[in-house]
Amino acid sequence: MLRIEFSDKQKQKIRKIHNARCVLCGLGEKEGAGSHVASRVPRQDGGEAVISNGQILCTKHKNARFDAEKIDPKTDSGKNFIISMHGLAKDKKSEHYQEFFAKLLKVYKAHNIDKHIAWKK
Ligand SMILES: [Zn+2]
Repeated sequence: MLRIEFSDKQKQKIRKIHNARCVLCGLGEKEGAGSHVASRVPRQDGGEAVISNGQILCTKHKNARFDAEKIDPKTDSGKNFIISMHGLAKDKKSEHYQEFFAKLLKVYKAHNIDKHIAWKK
């Protein structure tokens, strides 16, 4: 299966490597700036979910990046969730749920939402 997001384990390592501090301003949780794992090369530009492509952004810089890339973080995580649920249904060989999640993903496609997130049946 195509890895579309950093795993929790990868996120933990990336946080450790970068001391959980924003690569742009150096702030982190301790300053109340937040600390988010983000890819250096964005997914839509071929960036992979590997540790070497990980970095930390504070909430302000993460949001600025979402704005710059025209990504709606709310639908973004929604689509990723549905993709992982589809994968789970596939693993469990549940055709009923596979069909359900595939239909939801077709709605994303029909409305041209989050097309930067690749999904293959
Ligand atoms: Zn920052």
